[in-house]
Amino acid sequence: MKKCFVPVCLLVLATPAFAQTQQSASDPVRTLVQRLDLQKYQATIKGLTQFGDRRQGTARNRAAIDWIEKQLKSYGCANTERLKYQFGDEPPHRVVPATAASGSAQSNAPLFNVGGARARGIRNPTGVNTDASAQPDPVLRALDTPPAVAGDREEVWCTKIGATNPGEMYIVSAHMDGIGWGEAANDNGSGTALVMELARVFSSPDVRTDRSIRFILWNNEETGLNGAHAYVEQRGPLQGKENPAGSGRYPEPKWLGMIQHDMMLFDHGMPRADGSLSPVQRPEADVNIEFQADSKFAAASRDLAFALQDANERYASDYPASVGRHMTNTDSHEFQDSVAAVSLRENERGAQVGNGWDPQWHQPTDLYKTYDDKDFRLGLNAAQTTLSAVARLAGASIKK
Ligand SMILES: [Zn+2]
Repeated sequence: MKKCFVPVCLLVLATPAFAQTQQSASDPVRTLVQRLDLQKYQATIKGLTQFGDRRQGTARNRAAIDWIEKQLKSYGCANTERLKYQFGDEPPHRVVPATAASGSAQSNAPLFNVGGARARGIRNPTGVNTDASAQPDPVLRALDTPPAVAGDREEVWCTKIGATNPGEMYIVSAHMDGIGWGEAANDNGSGTALVMELARVFSSPDVRTDRSIRFILWNNEETGLNGAHAYVEQRGPLQGKENPAGSGRYPEPKWLGMIQHDMMLFDHGMPRADGSLSPVQRPEADVNIEFQADSKFAAASRDLAFALQDANERYASDYPASVGRHMTNTDSHEFQDSVAAVSLRENERGAQVGNGWDPQWHQPTDLYKTYDDKDFRLGLNAAQTTLSAVARLAGASIKK
């Protein structure tokens, strides 16, 4: 038997902890996650609410796009671009009720919400507020009053260009338009600010990624995903083409994955029997990552969803992530048959938001002041989740 000298034993015992410290010190993903900041995230959401509901087709919507572009440039994501498209009159906004599966004639057959999710438990009514007088604040009411006008539309993005594979990219996105006579703080200031925060962190001059990352703020989500639709239509055919030839420039890098963020703050649980909700974030709140099982890229989307969940387990500070297969009613839907596409949310869109788990959804109460630190922290954890997953997928490193 070998004799154990004290200094040697100490060295052996100390090795695992020492190795761990060395590893986190050299883990660029952890360093990048640590650059996210709750106060900055909140300040960006607050900044977006100065434009009220940012309804598409209005001056306040255009002012918000200008403001977002200015912020992106100030972060060093200076190569901003805009997509231009046309949009006509707003259709009436309808929330589809839960229905029985087709072919089921029994009265006790289970009901399903949009996206294929089973509708379970206590349901609160959902809908879109269209009543101006429901907004008690006269200043906000006046700001939200001018109606949408048919005509030219724009949406903005900027791109982190990959160092070794500039012709391939991940899309990190959120919609910046809103409705309901509030400030659209959660739907979708929270997702917009998340994407902007990621643009800020990835654009730091010492950050390098192998592949490209595009940060897109969609317009016209609330009218039927029309901004994302216009992007897929105009930009899809340009994918992976070097232009001009031999320049090393790819105006539209090949899409590797699309990660959408829509309503990131509020997970207070199921409504109680009397229809009321917990006033605070539930302790078991989570980030819901969804893919659509009924899509052409379902398998690749599922893999992307679990890559995000794995990143959440390793890098998110407070809240876990769950994966579901009923992604629906957000801009990633427009991508789901072309590329791996997922959405991140406070709740499952069909089963939970669709059952009235978020009483601020499209309502005058969707205000910055409605949410507290624990709510904002859920959004921050979603930011940590996407940032760490994309940093790994795009091959991020930090220059010494
Ligand atoms: Zn939304």
